[in-house]
Amino acid sequence: MRAAILSVGTELLFGQIINTNSVYLSRELQMMGFDVLYHYTVGDNAGRLKEILRAAFKDCELVVATGGLGPTQDDLTKEAVSDVQEDHLRLHEPSLEAMEKIFSRMNRPMPENNKKQAWLPSRAVIFENSEGTAPGFALENGGKTIICLPGPPREMKSVFENKARPFLQSKSGGVIAHKILRAFGVGESVFETELLDLIGGQTDPTLATYAGEGECSLRIASKRESEALAGAAVADMERRVMARAGRYIYSDNGDDLPTVVGKKLISGKISVSSAESCTGGLFAEKLTGVPGISAVFGMGFVTYSNRAKAEALSVSEEILEKYGAVSEETARAMARGVREATGSRLCVSVTGVAGPGGGTPEKPVGLVYIGCLLDGKETCLELRSRDVNRAWNRNYAVLAMFDHINKRLAR
Ligand code: ATP
Repeated sequence: MRAAILSVGTELLFGQIINTNSVYLSRELQMMGFDVLYHYTVGDNAGRLKEILRAAFKDCELVVATGGLGPTQDDLTKEAVSDVQEDHLRLHEPSLEAMEKIFSRMNRPMPENNKKQAWLPSRAVIFENSEGTAPGFALENGGKTIICLPGPPREMKSVFENKARPFLQSKSGGVIAHKILRAFGVGESVFETELLDLIGGQTDPTLATYAGEGECSLRIASKRESEALAGAAVADMERRVMARAGRYIYSDNGDDLPTVVGKKLISGKISVSSAESCTGGLFAEKLTGVPGISAVFGMGFVTYSNRAKAEALSVSEEILEKYGAVSEETARAMARGVREATGSRLCVSVTGVAGPGGGTPEKPVGLVYIGCLLDGKETCLELRSRDVNRAWNRNYAVLAMFDHINKRLAR
């Protein structure tokens, strides 16, 4: 089935926000077996919206639109869609009640204009929005279907996953199984090259790689007559992928690195503490994002200056002077200092040159040392990243810390 994605919102045209919805929907629809032919972006203008919809329906049987479902005057999507699909709006009582409940839970009166969100096309299949007030919907007419989703990405994803995806699957016949493998320590192009024949030669299961911040992932999807067949096809492809590129893959359920490591620490009852220099607490921030981590996380030091490293972690002046703050010796001494201060079983440290300034020929921007002390056994990892972007370097250093811990825990 051929599909188009329609993003509604003047702020998209002004460049005020990045169109992440279309990226997400394009990937998801493609993985579901739709041919995505067009991306349209249109401002909050009913006339142009209708023109675009008619144009999209010339070539496509499905249009997935986001945005413009809100309560304000410039939210015009529903009116335009109803018009093109030869329908009209009417008050959808269950949506109004759901909205009234949200406001009464917040102990606030519902603004009159919010009611507008409960006016929906009379023939539409309504998609309840558990993350917000504007419901989504699907509206069919003469073999053409439009799906309208709310604009805010969190709401859009939730309504797509929970409502629109099952709706589309029920139309297409067949069941889709999918799996996301996440990889660290390999660029998307190398990852893809290693899997090239699997990616190129397949129509089902389909494989698609995605680049993330310092990591990448692979999605395997299959559409078959039954869940068992689709699941078996995905599992078979996963085995082939693991045989080629298993050394990079750290997660097979979509969990990110902090979550994978955090869960292992919690289930293994391994106490953990950290000392960070160049990442300024980012490691501790990511680790404490894992629910339940309080059972094992002891303390996170941010020891930015030499004095802090010496005073809080007992890193000797001799080490700091002889090898410098960014050195294997300092990283190791920091990890030992954490151990002394906290007694945690796992003590990690990080020190490096985040950039953009501060690099020297011997110690360039992107040079990072990660110290790790697990049950008395000490290791140190040296990273040399070519990227001079401060935010990227800091994020990458933290991911590398988690990756290093993950590998140490696996041993
Ligand atoms: P609301 O109920 O919040 O009004 P809506 O469905 O009317 O939802 P819009 O008003 O069009 O949605 O957009 C709300 C916000 O959602 C935007 O300000 C923007 O932050 C975000 N948003 C909208 N469209 C996109 C998009 N295509 N990609 C990323 N973010 C988007």
